[in-house]
Amino acid sequence: MRIPDKLSAYCKKCKKHQVHKVKQEKGGRRSGGLNWSHRREKHRRRGHGNLGRYSKRAVTQTKMASKTSKKVDLRLECPECGKKAVMNRPRAKRVEVFRAL
Ligand SMILES: [Zn+2]
Repeated sequence: MRIPDKLSAYCKKCKKHQVHKVKQEKGGRRSGGLNWSHRREKHRRRGHGNLGRYSKRAVTQTKMASKTSKKVDLRLECPECGKKAVMNRPRAKRVEVFRAL
C-alpha cells in the first residue's frame, strides 16, 4: 500500500482544510517496565494458560497468529497549529509513504 506524504485534510483546531504531513508511527515499547497494577495482574495469572512444551509450541504462537496483515498507525500533522490526528487505519501487509511532488 502506497500513501502520499502530503494530504489535504480537515484540521479540527484551525476549522479548515490544510495540507497535512503524513507520518507512520512506529510501535512503541513501554519504558520503565510494568506499573504496579500490571505486576499484580501478572502475578495473579501465574500458573494459568498453555505455555508450550518440548513437543509443541505455546497456543499464543500458533493459533492466535491467524491474521497476515497489520493495521497501520498513520498520523496527520497540521503545519499551521501542529495538531496531530489519527488517520483512518487501513489493513496492509506493507506500507510505503512516498513523496508526492
Ligand atoms: Zn491546524
